[in-house]
Amino acid sequence: MPRPRNTPSPDSAPAPRILLPAALPAPDKDPFDIDQVFRLLRGATAGLPKAAMFDLRDQGYASPFEQLVAALISARTRDETTIPVCHRLFARARRPEAMAELPEAELVGLLHGATFPEPKARDILALSRQIAAAGAVPDTMEGLQALRGVGPKIAALTLGVGFGKPAISVDIHVHRITNRWGYVAASTPERTMQALLAALPERYWVEINERLVPFGKFVCTGERPRCSSCALQRQCRQVGVTSHR
Ligand code: SF4
Repeated sequence: MPRPRNTPSPDSAPAPRILLPAALPAPDKDPFDIDQVFRLLRGATAGLPKAAMFDLRDQGYASPFEQLVAALISARTRDETTIPVCHRLFARARRPEAMAELPEAELVGLLHGATFPEPKARDILALSRQIAAAGAVPDTMEGLQALRGVGPKIAALTLGVGFGKPAISVDIHVHRITNRWGYVAASTPERTMQALLAALPERYWVEINERLVPFGKFVCTGERPRCSSCALQRQCRQVGVTSHR
């Protein structure tokens, strides 16, 4: 049967356009405005406990070496544990030369409570020796990731919080929340970091981790986020949220 005029053949039909959820019109939502989102985030997190690295920075443990070691300790360790472990360790050694001199067994004991204390102790000793030999903590992502035990998240935290250089550290909170907003659509933290590097204004690269860690722990939680009382509800597309409080 002849096809009616103006009806495209299956082969010539245009491919469906895929829009990021943030770009879709939503009658009960405001346009997504990243500056407004950060203004709201600052208010929403003002009374919450700070993320460990930022808390330690504000307590005076702000040097690149202290931030690097603290970031390594914080991997898969709760902030409530990371902070006292860092206090105990930095009371013993705060510079790479002194840290490199610690006996491994003593360092393991100082890391008690953190996850994986034995491998972390070996990593801290190795990178302390590398930095002591080089004379300074590297100040690039590549240089930091060349140190033993240092991946992109630790390197970005060290650069951002320790050196004050623009870098995005994507942990599980940053990954989950920016995807729920519909600001990015990425399946892994690594892909979220690439998407944020392209989309997020540089002035927010360090702050996004500072805001979203407490926000993710207390508001936009992994299970049943607190959408009903969330300050970002009109901005957030709530992508993938099937039940909430
Ligand atoms: S509205 Fe819900 S999903 Fe969106 S940021 Fe707030 S708590 Fe998270």
